[in-house]
Amino acid sequence: MELRKLEPKEVVVGMICDMCNQSCASPLEEDKDFCYEHGTLSASWGFYSDEKDLTHEECHLCEKCFGKIRDFITSNGGKVREIEMTGFGCTAPDWSMREDLDYKLLPGMFIRPYIKDKVMNEWEDIKKQEMEYAKKKQEMDEQEEKWDKVQSILAEARCEVSYVINPTTLDYEKFLDEGEFELALEALEEAGKCSSVQRTATFWTKINEAKKLMNLPLI
Ligand SMILES: [Zn+2]
Repeated sequence: MELRKLEPKEVVVGMICDMCNQSCASPLEEDKDFCYEHGTLSASWGFYSDEKDLTHEECHLCEKCFGKIRDFITSNGGKVREIEMTGFGCTAPDWSMREDLDYKLLPGMFIRPYIKDKVMNEWEDIKKQEMEYAKKKQEMDEQEEKWDKVQSILAEARCEVSYVINPTTLDYEKFLDEGEFELALEALEEAGKCSSVQRTATFWTKINEAKKLMNLPLI
């Protein structure tokens, strides 16, 4: 048979905000045995820190004060990421980390993150690559927009000529399907020049509009 004794034990039941000195607990937590609604700002410094070797700094914050710290960080150009919580268990929440938002996958395995300059160089490279990609994408989007516009102008031009199925007009359709807009334009222009084809004055305006977008000499 064991011999036992009753022993008082310290347990954490709540948090006082280290900034405003008020309880961190929300009024809705009154009957709870622990104050869940609080923020923690912490850092553990090791032997490579500037002057805080083996120091642990910690600060508990209420929701309002945490908001102030967050605003301070964002006003300095930083950000406090909002990581999605997939669940909140009795011990710890489950985080759902997203690439490029919550973490960045660095290219290659040769990078040693503890070499500061190296990481900074890598980051510079990544930023450069990203900027080049963004520029390229913008150019591609602009091109795509331009060709969409050319296509719709060519379609409008076609409505301004009497449509006769002949080898020339067939070519126009074929080139348009293949995305060969310059050839489609040429075919349409040729069709417009045909004496047997009726065309309006707007036809030539549209042809010139398309040529201007395609940097071709106007008629
Ligand atoms: Zn506070």
